[in-house]
Amino acid sequence: MAGLPAVRGTLYIVATPIGNLDDISARAIETLRSVALVAAEDTRHTLKLLRHLAINTQTVSLHEHNEVQRAPALVDRLLGGDSVALVSDAGTPLVSDPGHRLVNLAREAGVIVSPVPGPCALTAALSACGVGAARFAFEGFLPAASAARRAALGSLATEARTMVFYESPHRIVSCVADMALVFGGDRRAALCRELTKRYESIHVDTLERLGEWLRSDDDRRRGEFVVVLAGAEQAPGADCRPEWVEAVRELGEVLPPKRAARIIAKVTGASSQVLYRLARDSQR
Ligand code: SAM
Repeated sequence: MAGLPAVRGTLYIVATPIGNLDDISARAIETLRSVALVAAEDTRHTLKLLRHLAINTQTVSLHEHNEVQRAPALVDRLLGGDSVALVSDAGTPLVSDPGHRLVNLAREAGVIVSPVPGPCALTAALSACGVGAARFAFEGFLPAASAARRAALGSLATEARTMVFYESPHRIVSCVADMALVFGGDRRAALCRELTKRYESIHVDTLERLGEWLRSDDDRRRGEFVVVLAGAEQAPGADCRPEWVEAVRELGEVLPPKRAARIIAKVTGASSQVLYRLARDSQR
């Protein structure tokens, strides 16, 4: 029968455990079972997970070296009606993992791309280390070479948000040493190691003491790391944009200045006291 358009499949982006195999959602299991194909960063790795879950879905590899060639064929299958699940070796695909090209190609072709959220080393670390998760910048992996790494860290010297990095055991000592060099040994950070695994540890201290802590025991350098670094302390009012201060000043010409500051603070989320002081001082 001609004329009926094929129903498109959905591309599901499925988060998988970062260590503890029980950290997989019921919906992730159901999705991996029901799709026609699982596109996996490393099929051998994913087959272990699928076997553990007693799932027989066919797998195909999709990693950084073949994504450009393979993504169009996967989009063709989606357009033909097959649903596909994208997984990476651990955690959430596209977070320092392949899949960016496939997601964009699928979206451009009008395919629905739907997340099945779950584990992610970044959010696991932030949620448990206590360094501050309200505002953060995820930086992924730093450059491997020290000069390039210092330059990358240098560009973050004034970053006030918490910063999150992924790091390998081979570079964790030099990474923390370079951070101490750039941000100062007193800056607070957390080394979140082997999260959800048997030897999980979360150690929070100054960068200088974290360096000593790492160097004093080989075991402390083993495994996978998330480094969570406190942001730069800001002078009070540094996060108040000049146009907000100007708005307080102008509004203060027709309203009592403190009331003007309270109104602008409500709209912007900035401190009304700081806005008031900055507006008052800008008139002098
Ligand atoms: N997509 C993954 C996610 O959602 O977190 C990250 C993949 S990235 C290639 C791998 C890096 O994530 C590791 O080198 C490490 O920095 C971090 N990582 C992954 N699992 C971890 C764990 N269980 N504990 C600490 N860090 C982990």
